[in-house]
Formats: sequence, C-alpha cells, structure tokens
Amino acid sequence: MAKQYETVIGLEVHVELATRTKIFCGCSTAFGGAPNTHTCPVCTGMPGSLPVLNRQVVNYAIAVGLATNCSITQYCKFDRKNYFYPDNPQNYQISQLYLPICTNGRVEIETQDGKKSVGIHEIHMEEDAGKLIHDEWEDCSLVDYNRSGVPLIEIVSEPDMRSAEEVIAYLEKLRMLIQYLGASDCKLNEGSMRADVNLSVREAGAKEFGTRTEMKNLNSFRAITHAIEGERERQIELLEAGQQVIQETRRWDDAKEYSYAMRSKEDAQDYRYFPDPDLVPVYISDEWIEEIRAGLPEFREEKMRRYRESFDIPEYDIGILTDSKHLADLFEETVAVCNQPKKVSNWLMGETLRLLRERNMDAGDIRFSPDNLAKLISLTDSRAINSSVAKEVFEVMFEENVDPERYVEEKGLKTVNDEGALRETIEKVLAQNPQSVEDYRNGKEKAIGFLVGQTMKAMKGKADPAAVNGILKELL
Ligand code: ADP
Ligand code: MG
Ligand code: ZN
Repeated sequence: MAKQYETVIGLEVHVELATRTKIFCGCSTAFGGAPNTHTCPVCTGMPGSLPVLNRQVVNYAIAVGLATNCSITQYCKFDRKNYFYPDNPQNYQISQLYLPICTNGRVEIETQDGKKSVGIHEIHMEEDAGKLIHDEWEDCSLVDYNRSGVPLIEIVSEPDMRSAEEVIAYLEKLRMLIQYLGASDCKLNEGSMRADVNLSVREAGAKEFGTRTEMKNLNSFRAITHAIEGERERQIELLEAGQQVIQETRRWDDAKEYSYAMRSKEDAQDYRYFPDPDLVPVYISDEWIEEIRAGLPEFREEKMRRYRESFDIPEYDIGILTDSKHLADLFEETVAVCNQPKKVSNWLMGETLRLLRERNMDAGDIRFSPDNLAKLISLTDSRAINSSVAKEVFEVMFEENVDPERYVEEKGLKTVNDEGALRETIEKVLAQNPQSVEDYRNGKEKAIGFLVGQTMKAMKGKADPAAVNGILKELL
C-alpha cells in the first residue's frame, strides 16, 4: 500500500498596522505617494538619527495579543536584526527577538471537520522595509523608502495546521479579529497582510516533524492554497525517491504553479541580533493592559448574540453580516435610520456582496452611506420605483454614493402610477401581439409573461409589474 503523508504547516503573518505615522518617526504611512516623499532621516537610516517609538503601535499590538489569547510581555525590548539589502537603509531592521510583546496565544478556527485551536507562538513588533523597483528599460534598480518604517506586527503560529483549508480558516479568523479591532485593513492584495507558509510532510503517525521549507510571495488565498498543494506534492516526491527535503526559502510562482528555491534558510545567529541601544525597553503596566482590554470592541460571537436578540433576521444572515465588521456596522447604521433589518440585510448580502466580489473589493471599500441605502429601501417600499430599477440605482449608488432620491428624480425613473397611461400602453401591446393573446385565451398561461415583458419595455421599465399583471388579466 502506498504510504500516507500528513502535511504540517505553520504561518508567519505580517500585518501593517493602521497608524497614521510610522513606528519610529512622524512620517506618513499612507499607501502610495510620490517615491521618497514620506521620508525623513530616521526612516532612511541616516547616521545620528534616533528612533522614537509610536505608542499607538504598542496599543494595537497589545489589542491583537488580547484578542488572540496571548500573554502580554510587560517588560519588552527591541532588537536589531542585521542584514544588508538596499531596501533596508540602516542595514538592520528593528524587530523583537528575545522579548516579543505577546506570547503563547491561540485562536479557534472552524473547518468542515469541526473546531480546532491553532497556537500562536508569539507576536512581535517591527518595522517594514522600503520597496525596490527594478527598471528593466533603464537597466537599473530604484528604491522607494515610503514604506520603510511602516509598523508591522508578525504573528507566528505553532505548526498546528494540517491542510490548506485550515490555513485559510486561520487567516480569515486573524483578518476578522484584526479588522474588528481596526488595527489594520488586512488586504492581501495590497500587502497590508502577508503570509509566509512553512510546510513539511511526514508519514502518517510519525512522531517527529519533517524538514520544512518556507514559501514567500503569497498574496491571495488562491495562491496560498495552490502553493500548499504544490509544495506538499514536491516534498512527497522527494521522499518517495529516497531524497531529502532541504530547509530553504522558496518563492511560489502562481502563474507557473511551481515554487523555486530563493536562498538557503538562515538562522537567528546569521542576523547577529542584539538589543537596540537606541530604544529604551518598553514597560507595559497592568493599567495599560486593562485600558486596552476595556477598549476592545464587541467581537463576532457577542455581536451574533445581540443580533439574535435585537433583529428579526435569519441565523444565516447574522452569520454573513457579522463576518465583516464593516458590513455589520453598515447594517446597524442603516437599520438605525430605516428600521427594516431584513430589507437592509437583503441588500447587503445580495447586491452588495455580488458587486464586491465582481470588482474584487472587500467590505472595507464600500462607499455608499447608510442614509442612501435607507432612502433606496424607502423608494421601493413606497413603490416609487420597481425592483429592477432599484437594482440599477443601487449599482450607481455603489459606485458613486449618489443620493437615490435625487438620482431617480433626475433620470426620471419613477414608476408611472398613472393608470390611464398604463392601460393605454397595455391596449397597444395587446393589439400588436394577437398571437400571444390567443395563446393565453387558449389556456397557455405562460403567454402572459411575454405580454408583461412587452409592456415593461414599452414603459421603459418604469411600471409596477404587479399593476401591469392586474390590468393585463382584466383586459384579457
Ligand atoms: P524561524 O524563526 O527560523 O523562521 P521558527 O521556529 O520561528 O523558525 O518557525 C517559523 C515558523 O515555522 C513557525 O510558524 C512554525 O510554526 C513553523 N514551523 C516550524 N517547524 C515546522 C515544521 N517542521 N513544519 C512546518 N512548519 C514548521
Ligand atoms: Mg521566521
Ligand atoms: Zn521618517
């Protein structure tokens, strides 16, 4: 019988924190900007400049630690991780090795096989590096230090995951917790959340872990899933052929669906870590921790409980709405205006999620206001517009946050409630389609659908389908 293998996975997840300024200087953390405009002597590593820790970075790190059941290290320090690379102007990265701010946590994930706990080895604070741009046309490399010094936390899991499904569930859970905290927007495609996947395989039942590789450059759940499957197979093939897996860093190429070796894995010793002499140790008092704990938001479980009690909507809706803090906030704010939970939920779960998916956006990118969604709902409630017009208006509102009342007015989209006009149109339609009229009268009920369609077309979509149906039946 063929050997059975088990995959073992541990993740190192980098998250860019949502502070306005960088971790050790006052420069802006805004994404983009002309190259090297968000910089100063500190974040470009000028000799003699001194870093000053941004307190908000510590606040966020503590909050994420508490949300992931970690112990907070009350006496914690920064260390220098030494390496040369042009995107790292100091020739060291300020990070934490010996006393990371959070340790020994766990998060619960849910997969098809049920619930499971994934251990968090530690969370540490560090600074991001700049970006190299390779200009092939000019045959040179340019560097942009705008990202240099943007605050990161690195969340290091225990090797507790066994499949791509568990990895995705874990990442989704982290992303949800961190978004609920407002500590980051966690966008994989923009790099504000980045995952390195450490993976090894071992024979089913083996006690020891196999040798692992680390894969970088994974910027979507899809790429992560493919990389895990591809790397698992590559390692199994090596073992089956009697060869060994080499501990190394590999880069996953999602287009070619293959990973290739980048460099052999370095050890902590290679970096000559030592405590950064420019930064004093951080002492985190009990009061500080309690202050952060008191400010933690209502997380998903509590929110779901409250929704069950306060809103008359199905459990299914509650699950989807609370999956994202942004969606949940929008839901509550809109219901506060119009008091129609189920209708608000329908718009959010249906059209909103559909358009987000279609445009590759997430709930954090939603631009329309609760007021405008409430107005759209009242326009349909009062039958001022019909449901297909409402969808059209919604799409424009989704793009540009237009005021639906004004838009409907301006574009003349209001349903024609003038019965006389409607009757006149229907009479014309009947006269033009004698065959359908006859079919209907001969018992072909479906023919009426065609006549409704023709009427709606003649009315440019601005009729109430129920009214059209009623008048049609009467005239037929
Ligand atoms: P390093 O600091 O050298 O990167 P760590 O021991 O901190 O190494 O581990 C880094 C990540 O690799 C952690 O997420 C850990 O869970 C994971 N890991 C360690 N050993 C294995 C293994 N044998 N198989 C899969 N993942 C592993
Ligand atoms: Mg590592
Ligand atoms: Zn700076």
